[in-house]
Amino acid sequence: MRITSVRAFPIRLPRDLASARGTAGSPTSLHGEGIYRWSTAYPVLYSTHFETALIQVRLDNGLEGWGEAQAPLAPEVACTITELLLRPVLESEEFDGSAAGIAALWNRMYSTMRVRGQTGGFMLDAISGVDLALWDLAGKLAGQPVSALLAASPKTTVPAYLSGTTGTTPDERAAFAARFGLPLVKLYFDSDWNDLLRTADSLRSRGMDFAVDALWHLPPASAVEMALQLDARRAHWLECPLYPEEHGQHIELAQSIATPIALGESYRTRHELRPLAGACRILQPDLGRSGLTESMAIAGEFAAKQIVPHVSIAMGPQLAAAIHLAAAAPNCNLCEYNPNVLDTANAFLARPLELTGGVYHVPQTPGLGIVWNERIRELVGGE
Ligand SMILES: [Mg+2]
Repeated sequence: MRITSVRAFPIRLPRDLASARGTAGSPTSLHGEGIYRWSTAYPVLYSTHFETALIQVRLDNGLEGWGEAQAPLAPEVACTITELLLRPVLESEEFDGSAAGIAALWNRMYSTMRVRGQTGGFMLDAISGVDLALWDLAGKLAGQPVSALLAASPKTTVPAYLSGTTGTTPDERAAFAARFGLPLVKLYFDSDWNDLLRTADSLRSRGMDFAVDALWHLPPASAVEMALQLDARRAHWLECPLYPEEHGQHIELAQSIATPIALGESYRTRHELRPLAGACRILQPDLGRSGLTESMAIAGEFAAKQIVPHVSIAMGPQLAAAIHLAAAAPNCNLCEYNPNVLDTANAFLARPLELTGGVYHVPQTPGLGIVWNERIRELVGGE
């Protein structure tokens, strides 16, 4: 078979920011005008919309694979990279559906801009979106779910943890989280640390464990003192405590606290993660930034660490890929769950991704298991 077309579709859906507040993609209050606004608590820009980039790859036998790049802002960037840089190097290439064949195409894409320093960021997001589409095709060619191509005995279910909670008081937030019946809840640190600790205490009093996503803004001078308060409460992990490029600060913090540090969403390859190996015990690859090829390589190279895929704003392909990775990687047994994200993804799927009884059910149909419904035409036209 040969690859006959590679297309990319920027997606921008309106969403109810108020109901999503405190969860992935909208963890903080925002100020400003327009669709991109600053957090009121720390210097990060967020979209008021649900933005992502869908990728479609077709073969000359008529098969179609779908992938997705993580693109919470400006999805046109990953789409332009895909169509201008990656499409010409992929079209007309042989595709046999083997892991080695996909790895060769991944290396070809990575090599386009490697020596110019484009070995991360938007470039890898685009490569990862294509990578997911290639794995989807591989599964469809083999008539097997992707997890069965990645591992000899993949899991069929993966436990989920609740990512974020909403409410105006700590008890309200804990009560909201309790409705989902999941044993672990991740709290986002927006601006009030003591309020977060009270929410954590309320969760624990209800029998739930908690983790904290610090959104990269613990003050370095007080990070140890704050993290020791998490130690005292037996936090499951502390995610993204400091600026992502501050490797030394992360390593120093890890040496001073008992709570495991979790990192991964800001890094796309093993190369980017190696300097942080001494800082974190939990790695959180994002499938829309690392793809399946590199995420499996990360899970293999860091076999002693726990893998917990990062799932932020995502439609079906990214979510399904995270579930397949979790099913296949032996050092993974947990995946992020954001109710707003899953509901939005499922609104476009004829066969919804399932989470019941506290576990994701790994799609068992060929490929990633993505079957679009007619609403996908709203996003990608007649394609
Ligand atoms: Mg995070």
